[in-house]
This record gives sequence, C-alpha cells and structure tokens, in this order.
Amino acid sequence: MSCPEPGFFKEIVTTIENANKYLSLPKSVIDRLSTPRRSLIVSVPVKMDDGRIEFFKGYRVQYDFARGPAKGGIRYHPRVNLDEITALAALMTLKCAVVDIPFGGAKGGVECDPTAMSRDEIERLTRRYTYEIAILIGPETDIPAPDVYTDEQVMAWMMDTYSMMKGYPVPSIVTGKPVSLGGSLGRARATSTGLVTTVIEALKHLNMPLEGLTVTVLGFGKVGYHAAKILHDKGAKVIGLADSKGAIYNRRGLDIDAVSSHKKSTGSLSGFKESEDLSIDELLAVECDCLVPAALEGQINSKNAGSIKTRIMAEGANNPATLEADEVLKDKGVFLLPGVLANAGGVVVSYFEWVQDLQRFFWNESEIDSRLRSIMTKAFEEVLQISLEKKIDMRTAAMTLGVKRVAEAVMIRGLYP
Ligand code: GLU
Repeated sequence: MSCPEPGFFKEIVTTIENANKYLSLPKSVIDRLSTPRRSLIVSVPVKMDDGRIEFFKGYRVQYDFARGPAKGGIRYHPRVNLDEITALAALMTLKCAVVDIPFGGAKGGVECDPTAMSRDEIERLTRRYTYEIAILIGPETDIPAPDVYTDEQVMAWMMDTYSMMKGYPVPSIVTGKPVSLGGSLGRARATSTGLVTTVIEALKHLNMPLEGLTVTVLGFGKVGYHAAKILHDKGAKVIGLADSKGAIYNRRGLDIDAVSSHKKSTGSLSGFKESEDLSIDELLAVECDCLVPAALEGQINSKNAGSIKTRIMAEGANNPATLEADEVLKDKGVFLLPGVLANAGGVVVSYFEWVQDLQRFFWNESEIDSRLRSIMTKAFEEVLQISLEKKIDMRTAAMTLGVKRVAEAVMIRGLYP
C-alpha cells in the first residue's frame, strides 16, 4: 500500500477548520480542538530471541478528555510516528463524538515490524510498552484497544501486565480482549458489523438494493475480512479483494471463506484459483457499487483517485483517502461513508465491553448487536441530516457533528483554573 502524503495531522486540523465554517465556533475553541492534550514518547527495550537488546520507539497520545476518558487503539507498524498517532488520536476524539459515546480520544503505537518478529518478542515488546505507558493509562483515564497488527492476545498481555503492576485484575484497562478475560461478544467483528449497518442505511437513502451489490474491499485484515464476509452473506457480490501484496478479481463474485483459507495456507491473496490477479491500482479502476478501503491511511490518494469508479465508498480504515483524493471523489459524486462514522462500530462495542467490565455483568450477542445497530443507524441519520440541510458532503457533515459535540463539552466545562 502507498504511504500517506506528509502532514497527516495537519490534514485533520484542516478538516476541523472546514467543519467550523458551518459552526462558527470561537477561535480559542478551535485552537483547543486542534491541539493534543498529552503526548508521551517512550523507549521500549526488548530482548530479542537471539539475545540482542533492541530499542523500539513507542507513543501514546491522549488527544482530548472533554467528553470522557481517552479511548483508542494501539498499532504496531514500521510507519508509526508521532504525527500519525496524533492524527489518529484526534480522529478517535471526533469518532467517539459522532457516535455519541462518553469518551475522549487517544491512540498509541510502537514503530516496529511485527511480521518480522516472533510471538515471544511481540509479547516482551507489549509488556514493556504497557509498563512504560502505565503512567498515563487506566480504566478511568485512558483505555487502549487493538488497531493495526495488534489483536486479542496483545490485549490479554496488556491486561495481564497492568494487573500485575496493580496487584489485582483490572479487565477494564483495555478493550478487544478475549471473551475469557472479560472481552465482549461481537467485538472481533464489531467494526465490520457497524460498517455494514451504515452501508445498508446508505443503500436505503440512494435507493439501491443490497442483493447483487458489487463490492471491492481493500485490506484483508480483521476489518476487511469481516466486512467482505458479512456483505457476501447478506447477498452482495464481493468482486475484488486486495491485501498489501496484490489484488484478486472475479466479476461473478468471490467465495470469502475459500479466499480466507487460501490466504491462510499461502500467505497472500494472489493465485486464488477462481480469480484473476491484478495490481491494487488495477483493482481500484474496476467498476463497483461499493468500495471499502480497510487497510491503512493514504491508500486512496491523488495518484489513484481519478480511476475509481464506485457509487459508495465506506471507509473501514481511519482516513484511507487524502484530502486531494477526497476532492476528486466528491467531483465524481461518490457517496462517502467517512471513517469517523463507518468504522466506529469497533469503538462502540469497546464502549460496551468497558461498561460490562466495570459492572461485571455481561450481555448476550443479540443485545450487543441490536445496541450497536441502533447507535450506528442514529449516527448515520444525524450525519445525513446535516449533509442534506447544509448541502455538504458526508465527511464534512460527520466532522461538523463531531466538532460540535466536543466543542460543546469544552465550552460548558470551561477553562481550568
Ligand atoms: N482501533 C479502533 C479504531 O480505530 C478501535 C479503538 C477502540 O476500540 O478503542 O476505532
């Protein structure tokens, strides 16, 4: 996948300023919303399997607390840096506000290549990183969760490390844990369940049927896989899939389970027997009804946006399109489901998980799914309403709603001291 264009955080600030054209908030409030509250950089020494000690750079940015404790995932990736983590923490703040859950925003990460590390090395990295950021995180202050290349097991190690430091179990310190440790049912596919809910609402609005809807999904990690699978099971036709190495295409539709077993046994999508191998840019140029970018930010950029032929774009990833790409897609009339809305299902079920851990009382899967659907549907309707009323695109509308809610909390709390 291509790298994001430079200045990711600057792009988010520009989006916040654009949203303020429809809110006219005082400059002091916009300045506050454009500044992270706390940023921690840590050095994470790890004993590697060959006995060497390697030093990794870790981050945790707590962007804003106005509406509640900070919340957001931890990513392990070679591209992690302070600019990216700050931008993603700002997006978490706005995302939690768009779906109206009582959290601020945070993000963390370690600059490393987890694909080149053993499970033991990743465990030692996770435990030392958790120890280093323990001065900031806590169930009442900042609750981490999975993100790119971190999973349930990583969350279990974080929970264990924090609990050992405290001397008693603290399940509410992280979300996205295994169910056996206080994780929530439905959390693993929550981002995709939420995304599909917003796609279905968009289809109703656009008067398009779900049956036979042609879908292309970029990214075959947790979000991409579950999105493809749920859409396929509901009658859509997933015609294209891509991972970081390449893409596959079949106009008649791909069998998601068969593709998944192929990827498990060969390590990549390419070479799947009932499909044609394409490059990612070639797949992007294939006509479809719904495109789901679900890998990293900057995936849709000025170089490839022009060739995209889709009616709907549902962002499974955080900010997969650059501002320039956004303009191109807007001119083409693509109906956008922005990440702060479309991929918010993950943090919504994280919220449910945190609530269940705090009250030590657990809900069943259908309760989780129906609460998730109702939050996502309400958020979609609110964003659409703003978009129609103010005649603005869905991204600006979602940002307007998020900025308005955070600003309200900032203003009513006032400035300390
Ligand atoms: N990493 C996910 C996101 O970007 C989930 C965050 C969370 O559950 O706290 O929304």
